[in-house]
Amino acid sequence: MADLTFEPWTFYNVTVTCHTASVADPADPDNPKPCPNYEREWVAHEVYSNDGQPNIQCGPCQQRVEMLAAEKMDPQPEIS
Ligand SMILES: [Zn+2]
Repeated sequence: MADLTFEPWTFYNVTVTCHTASVADPADPDNPKPCPNYEREWVAHEVYSNDGQPNIQCGPCQQRVEMLAAEKMDPQPEIS
């Protein structure tokens, strides 16, 4: 796990990856498959850091992703 620090209450673009090698397939429970995002890197945009610990889940597998890099958004998006 990369050692990233986040300022609280701040938006970041975060480079993440998924390590879920085995996802149960309800249609084929005997043959779990890797997550579609397995070992793929992508950027999660406009991630809010909450109190300094953003919680990013992988869409397909619903597991927490590994955060590889984070870039503070400049300017910060407007909160409406
Ligand atoms: Zn995943």
